[in-house]
Amino acid sequence: MKLKRDEKVIMDNGPLGLKKKLTLTNKRLIFQKDEGIFNVKWNQEKVIPLNNIEDVYLETKAFTGMSSMKVKLKKGKRFELSLSLGDSWLLNDSSEDKMEKEKSTQLKMLHYRWVKAITNQLMRLDEEKKTLETKEKTEYIQECPKCGKKITKENYKYCPFCGRLLKSKYLF
Ligand SMILES: [Zn+2]
Repeated sequence: MKLKRDEKVIMDNGPLGLKKKLTLTNKRLIFQKDEGIFNVKWNQEKVIPLNNIEDVYLETKAFTGMSSMKVKLKKGKRFELSLSLGDSWLLNDSSEDKMEKEKSTQLKMLHYRWVKAITNQLMRLDEEKKTLETKEKTEYIQECPKCGKKITKENYKYCPFCGRLLKSKYLF
């Protein structure tokens, strides 16, 4: 997997079933497939930029207790993401009934960890965007030297209120 500039892996090895895994970076959610024959060779199957994700949440089915992740994209599309435990949850030799419960609990925890990690990244991106917007706003606001009104766009050549030429630095 090639990382972009300033990109780093936040979580890796999300089990997606046979030879597939989920990777979370600070920029993307990446579905990877092992296409190696003798050695493991991860190839990107699908990439979702975090910027395209509106929300992510955990869903547990009331009847079966089984959980999954729901991902809502900004364009309004939703999809379900189910991680699988493989055999890692087989920890004890208790009754089948108990094991089912244990399995659903572990699966829920696994999904929860991923939902939390993705949410943290989305929140960080949101925060960054807000900071940038505030910065842009304050940078653009200037006062017209003639009428004193606030000018909110940097690209105004003339003051929209009194028509004073703004661009020339000699006039300020
Ligand atoms: Zn003015």
